[in-house]
Amino acid sequence: MPEKAPWADVFVVGIPRSLLYYRFGVLWTTFFEALGRHVVVSEATDKAIADRGEQLSVDECCLASKVFMGHVDSLVGRCDAVFVPSYPTADHRSGFCTKFQSVTDMVRNTFRDKHLEVISCEVGNVRKMRDVRRPFEEMALRMGVSRADAHKAFKTAWSAQAAHDKACNEAQERVLRQLVAERRSAATQPLKQPPLGILVVAHPYIAHDTYLSGAVLDALRDMGAQVVFADALDHDHTYKKSFEFSDTMPWIINRELIGAILSVEDKVDGIVLISAFPCGPDSMTDDAIMRCIQGKPILNLMIDAQSGTAGVETRVESFVDILRFQQKGGYTHG
Ligand code: SF4
Repeated sequence: MPEKAPWADVFVVGIPRSLLYYRFGVLWTTFFEALGRHVVVSEATDKAIADRGEQLSVDECCLASKVFMGHVDSLVGRCDAVFVPSYPTADHRSGFCTKFQSVTDMVRNTFRDKHLEVISCEVGNVRKMRDVRRPFEEMALRMGVSRADAHKAFKTAWSAQAAHDKACNEAQERVLRQLVAERRSAATQPLKQPPLGILVVAHPYIAHDTYLSGAVLDALRDMGAQVVFADALDHDHTYKKSFEFSDTMPWIINRELIGAILSVEDKVDGIVLISAFPCGPDSMTDDAIMRCIQGKPILNLMIDAQSGTAGVETRVESFVDILRFQQKGGYTHG
């Protein structure tokens, strides 16, 4: 056991079900479990969590980071320490929003009076396994684990995340194949309504948090649309594809989302952008998407703490009506 292991007594690790949990959560939970720790993931976002996060945050914070604070608060007293990693920008073409660098300090300061133990590590370039492995192994040493066990745990966790990502990508590919097949079938049967494929473009912690975007997804599905998630498509492919759109864009997730649009725009009927107010990266990229992606109807939705999803159903319904009208040849865009 290393001499300095300040987190050796952390046996129950709390993980907020928010922000990058939706991107790296499988790696995180598998890693701690492989180290023999018990993991407690906060419950799905609800109004109480969102309201608490709002109280704990300054107004300028985006809705997503406010919700994150509510999740951390919900873990107080339920674990020995909360895991809040920092993801600073390690590369000018695959960095993160600054929130992901500062979130560890924000949590430590916000919960200082509650004496919340925060364990963390500073992750490098997430596209390079070695850059991710080192900080996780260093953290494990601080938890009193041997380097060999830390190495083994990381390998297990990395593989689990890769398998999860692959399964998510395959699920989206299945929907896309089904859309193509149903379109072909509808083309031969004049009375059959063709399918409606919608690409939902949002950060994973927005797209898959049902409190934040569930109303949008429900409205789309209620109108008979089949949803494809841009964030769940193959990350490596979409990241590389994004360079056809921009050489300079610094944020990896926005890159993947734009690469996903370029990859599948021909296979869907419309695109729905969902952002959390006031997201800096999305305000830039959404504007660029609206201007540059031609020939495909786009609905741009902004979710904030005040209005929540009020009015979303109406906008989604109108959008789907327009798409159906277009399918019948009655509307031309771009
Ligand atoms: S990318 Fe946008 S939504 Fe995500 S944490 Fe940053 S400001 Fe918030």
